[in-house]
Amino acid sequence: MDLTFSNEETAFRDELRLWLAENHPGDEPDGGEDKQFAWRQDWQRRLNDGGWAGVHWPVEYGGRGATYTESAIFFEELGRANSPLPANGLGLVLGGPTLMAWGTEEQKERYLPMILSAEEIWCQGFSEPEAGSDLASLKTTAVRDGDEWVVNGQKVWTSAAQWSKWCMLVARTDPDLPKHKGLTYFLMDMDQPGVQVRPLKQMTGGSEFNELFLEDARIPHENIVGSEGDGWKVAMTTLMNERSGLAFFLQVRSRQLLDDLFRHARESGQIDDPLVADKLARLHAKAEVLRLTAYRGLTQIETYGQPGPESALTKLMWSELNQDITQFAADLLGPQALRDGTEWSYELMRARGNTIEGGTTEVLKNIVAERVLGLPRLKAAAQ
Ligand SMILES: Cc1cc2nc3c(=O)[nH]c(=O)nc-3n(C[C@H](O)[C@H](O)[C@H](O)COP(=O)(O)OP(=O)(O)OC[C@H]3O[C@@H](n4cnc5c(N)ncnc54)[C@H](O)[C@@H]3O)c2cc1C
Repeated sequence: MDLTFSNEETAFRDELRLWLAENHPGDEPDGGEDKQFAWRQDWQRRLNDGGWAGVHWPVEYGGRGATYTESAIFFEELGRANSPLPANGLGLVLGGPTLMAWGTEEQKERYLPMILSAEEIWCQGFSEPEAGSDLASLKTTAVRDGDEWVVNGQKVWTSAAQWSKWCMLVARTDPDLPKHKGLTYFLMDMDQPGVQVRPLKQMTGGSEFNELFLEDARIPHENIVGSEGDGWKVAMTTLMNERSGLAFFLQVRSRQLLDDLFRHARESGQIDDPLVADKLARLHAKAEVLRLTAYRGLTQIETYGQPGPESALTKLMWSELNQDITQFAADLLGPQALRDGTEWSYELMRARGNTIEGGTTEVLKNIVAERVLGLPRLKAAAQ
């Protein structure tokens, strides 16, 4: 991969930098999660008005039609300017691209503009109490009733469900087929009596995700994405976009945290301790390896047109680096890093979930081993 930007890419970066400098939303407001979410929704509206919400989306769907390198630049610059992420991240990064790959023309026309403008927020209803890593064993059922499907079951960890209008829901539509084959992917309207959302309190103090209880929830037949029984394949499109989509933003975010830590170590004089300097140097090297690996992933996307299993690697590297940085911050800052309500205490506790969300580290290592390195599959090796 050539890491030198072309003239077009440099012009794209400069235009974006200027726009961000003039339109930056400022610091996150106090006053709770609802207010902060509304603030990010407003930020996405402003991005959309400026033509920056769907940078990686094709022009025909309201996006900017940016190249993969330009969309990487977009996320890097967003991180560099310390800008918040758009509120409808799951719609922009997961839902939109899934609809573009599998949706009907009517579905694209109906849903994509509302995702871009953040008028309709999307959430992802995949995980269940007994089905996380082994998603295909999910038990939520959908049974056809005329032109509708009737859904019963429970989802968990559903991020942003409390603010969402639409849920990307995977449900079992044929219990007699092998587990990967009897699944269907639906767009479920969250605004109905059969859908109950119960926020879960996290150790950060926030409630970023929820439980979903589905009791005779109804979904029109036309809201199937792909065809009946295609749920597993459609869900894989969503997951591959999830792991690759945020790689650039997240690696820049980790870099910012690390820079903050360097600043603290310099100001406090702790950097003169050889053990501290050694650990910071190691973290710096890991952050650079992650950045370059994220760029290398672009080559794969540019070659094959969509993210591949390599995205598992950047996701797992980022999550481990982020935990290392926040843990070392706690070691350096001492009790100050653990005081409730401070930035570092939030980062330290939030980072615990990084090795679980979007695929656990163990599961991602299996994907890298089997599908990137071509090592024998776990079950075959055990026989
Ligand atoms: C912050 C956060 C946000 C999330 N948001 C969403 C969301 O919006 N929508 C959604 O659907 N889900 C969401 N999730 C759920 C997430 O996708 C699951 O937690 C994840 O897939 C793991 O599933 P599980 O929690 O059931 O753990 P399990 O699958 O039960 O895993 C338990 C342990 O077993 C290990 N393990 C499991 N299988 C294997 C294997 N084959 N080989 C080796 N080890 C294995 C795991 O690595 C883990 O350590 C979120 C999770 C977090 C932490």
